Amino acid sequence: MSTKNTATKISAEALSDYAPVPRSAIGPALNEQGYYVGRVERNLYWVTDGSYQSAFLTTKDGVVLFDAPPSIGGNIRRAVDEIASANGVSNKVTHLVYSHHHADHAGASSLFDKNVIRIGHEETKRLLLRDNDPARPAPQETFADRRTLKIGGERIELAWRGPNHTPDNIYIHFPDHDTLMLIDIVNPGWAPISMSNLSEDIPGYVAAPAIALEYPWKHFIGGHVGRLGTRDDVTLHQQYMADIDASVRRALVSVDPTPFFQKYGDNPWAAVSALFDAWTDAGAAPVIEKYAGVLGAADVYTKSTTFWVMESIRLDLGFASYVRP
Ligand SMILES: [Zn+2]
Repeated sequence: MSTKNTATKISAEALSDYAPVPRSAIGPALNEQGYYVGRVERNLYWVTDGSYQSAFLTTKDGVVLFDAPPSIGGNIRRAVDEIASANGVSNKVTHLVYSHHHADHAGASSLFDKNVIRIGHEETKRLLLRDNDPARPAPQETFADRRTLKIGGERIELAWRGPNHTPDNIYIHFPDHDTLMLIDIVNPGWAPISMSNLSEDIPGYVAAPAIALEYPWKHFIGGHVGRLGTRDDVTLHQQYMADIDASVRRALVSVDPTPFFQKYGDNPWAAVSALFDAWTDAGAAPVIEKYAGVLGAADVYTKSTTFWVMESIRLDLGFASYVRP
């Protein structure tokens, strides 16, 4: 047997084409180093590389950072330096708040010195100790349900409101900056990516936007895509998820499983696979049509999210569950 590593080469022309991304999905242009940093409100700033977002507060005692996505990486430091020097304030990062434990939002944590105080939910600490990734040191300071941070004269309200995208994902409210940061739930202007933004708890994921809207805020930091969000973006996302829910429930009761089991009698997994595909396709089709030109990549990702919502409706909620008489 050969141990030679052979790379798989796929030609770009062979890849699928998709609908153009609506203008409303696009954010500000990036600079030469590949980032954009902008003011959210007063001394609260956000940084993006077009796909990921981080945020920071400049305070009289130093900088408080919120998430450190590795794709932005060293540009977080550059963005902080740029703003601090323009405003004549300290660029020393004193605190780092984790939104949740995922490596794609926390993996540049180790770029900041070991004296930075890391803060996160107690479950974030447990998961980071479990994962034992040197790029993501576990938080020294944790909380269970709520915690108010008062750092350098600024107020930040942290809250854990139950599992959603992950078991540890938190709400970060900036009451004096009219802003809510909630990661991996709503991608403003865009459809969620794979399987509802790779969410572990779909009932929690679906409920999270309503919790977000209970808070007073004007600016939304979602952790992904190249722009900030508004309350209308969150409402549009809620409508999109509600449309998927309603559509896939219709599919679950209208696509008859019988022919699938007739065809694949001795191979039930083949029948299940084909039936899941049929339910997903029937559920997703009207939603893809409705959101074309409204949400970026609705044609790319609606099927994947529909599949995951369908499984939650079946397995968490017991919808269309059949008990053999
Ligand atoms: Zn995540």
